Amino acid sequence: MRKKLIVGNWKMNGSLAANAELLAALKAGFDAAQADLALCAPAPYLLQLQAALQGSGIAWGAQDVSAHEGGAYTGEVSAAMLRDCGCRYVIVGHSERRQYHHESDDLVALKAQRALAAGLTPIVCVGETLPDREAGRTEFVVKRQLSAVIHAVGHCCSEIVVAYEPVWAIGTGLSASAAQAQAVHAVLRAQLRAATGQAERNRILYGGSMNAANAAELLRQPDVDGGLIGGASLKAASFLSIAAAG
Ligand code: 13P
Repeated sequence: MRKKLIVGNWKMNGSLAANAELLAALKAGFDAAQADLALCAPAPYLLQLQAALQGSGIAWGAQDVSAHEGGAYTGEVSAAMLRDCGCRYVIVGHSERRQYHHESDDLVALKAQRALAAGLTPIVCVGETLPDREAGRTEFVVKRQLSAVIHAVGHCCSEIVVAYEPVWAIGTGLSASAAQAQAVHAVLRAQLRAATGQAERNRILYGGSMNAANAAELLRQPDVDGGLIGGASLKAASFLSIAAAG
């Protein structure tokens, strides 16, 4: 049985003062028996998370990583630097990066490879747009996105976390239904199993308008192993109730 993993993606939100308040409330309310928790924060706050969360059982991570190992890449943050800040996780291939920063499947795959090489667990995001879904291309798109990562990371595949985030559900208040999520998660697990011979260890998270009201039904699906939460991770009460729903 895979333990649920609930990850907060703060995106470009927060301040030292607001984070301190949120972290204190999360530490006070965290129940390790319910689910594993992690927070993915903007890079300038990772040391704040390390100081606040060390020893708490709540893990932390970043929202992106460079595809380069190090050197003259102004503005980039390497996987080794994230490890230096105590990160366990890093999100790669979020649809906002694919869309606004033109990240290709191959670049995302390289980032996942860099993360694994540095001892980080990549949370690989895949997901279709609304036109993709309406054209019946959902399965094709998510399999293409995951396939690039599978080929790049090879036998390390069992170490990755996958997040299915339909683009049309992100920040819209319009979550995928539990049945829609389960159907895509089953496709992704079958793809991982075909590549490596087993996929029982991989946690596949759902993301896209997950909240305290819809979490329980989504998390009840056999292949939904947790959530990647945007908006609802910015308030301790809603984030903790999602964790409790798992
Ligand atoms: P929302 O939960 O705000 O829809 O965002 C989901 C997401 O993009 C998490 O990475």
